[in-house]
Amino acid sequence: MMLPPGSTIGIIGGGQLGRMSAMAAARLGYRTHVFAPEFKSPAADVAAGATVGDYGNLALVELFARAVNVVTFEFENLPAESLELLETLKPVRPGAGILRISQDRVLEKRFLNDAGIATAPWAKVENEEDLAAAVARLGLPAVLKTTRLGYDGKGQAMLRTPEDLAAAFARLEPKPLVLEGFVNFAAEISVMVARGVDGTVVAFDAVENRHKHHILDMTLAPAPMPVTVLEEAQRLARTVAEKLELVGLLGVEMFVTADGAVLVNEIAPRPHNSGHWTMDACPCSQFEMHIRAVAGLPLPPAMRHSDAVMKNLVGPEDMALWPRILATPGLIPHHYGKVEARPGRKMGHFNRLFPKGGLPGELGIEDALALAEI
Ligand code: AMP
Repeated sequence: MMLPPGSTIGIIGGGQLGRMSAMAAARLGYRTHVFAPEFKSPAADVAAGATVGDYGNLALVELFARAVNVVTFEFENLPAESLELLETLKPVRPGAGILRISQDRVLEKRFLNDAGIATAPWAKVENEEDLAAAVARLGLPAVLKTTRLGYDGKGQAMLRTPEDLAAAFARLEPKPLVLEGFVNFAAEISVMVARGVDGTVVAFDAVENRHKHHILDMTLAPAPMPVTVLEEAQRLARTVAEKLELVGLLGVEMFVTADGAVLVNEIAPRPHNSGHWTMDACPCSQFEMHIRAVAGLPLPPAMRHSDAVMKNLVGPEDMALWPRILATPGLIPHHYGKVEARPGRKMGHFNRLFPKGGLPGELGIEDALALAEI
């Protein structure tokens, strides 16, 4: 059943992903109600209502659920009890089972491998003996990660020599940890995939993601690599959506190895920074696709009418460029409405479109992102 216009979509999380979902929802005639810990947040600023408080406050969770028709997420690390309560009160999309898997790297990798999807070789690490055994099996270098609550490179440590093990094990919290064999990847790519209430699955084109200081810096759409790799990435993303019986939107982050193999790194059951290019290069963006799936609307094909480069604006350095970005023809600006530009904080992004098939090479991209001199 389609949620009628005028209904209220509840969004857990107050960040920019919630903001852009709320804006897409408004265009389809929906109200949004945001649940976030802060009184002012990028999402609450553009929503019809907000519940402000701790995600673990069950009384507030209940009030929030009573104010909305359906619940979705822009932040998925909700305490388990809050999730359980929500499920008893309103439809939760994507479902709680998917959130539990994506919150836990061990469950996530087990799910992926059981679905026949390759990941980096990995081992669960509960104590230092496990770590020694895992290193003996997977070799060095390797990456040690927390199973829960990691993002943007936080909660992980690179292990290069046997001397690195003890300190990394002691530092990373909470336990248990996961050791992953180091993937000497040629590129990092991702696919945004959506699945509707009726089971329709649509996958956006695979894109390449480039990071700076562990934070996404730039997305190239489509990823400049062989079509066989791009199609394999989309196939994997569709498989994930189908096996999880997703209702909603999900990002699949992948590594492409030098010989063109595609390994899945992690999944995020929500809009994703690497999907921001769709806001200007696709008739139906990742945010509209998210809202359509959650509201039980039909999903159009994930069509791309242009090639695109997305550039993230992070911290005060990038925001100092804002006036020049606004004054540079061809750059499509998106500001998240955050007042304070702390270092490392995602403040906005811009997209630059190119005719379909016309994504330039490295020098051309640099040139296209160069800002007007004012
Ligand atoms: P994650 O938090 O898992 O998304 O990891 C953050 C970043 O660390 C990734 O985008 C990669 O650049 C790098 N990374 C993570 N896992 C591995 C791995 N097993 N091998 C090589 N690089 C990795």
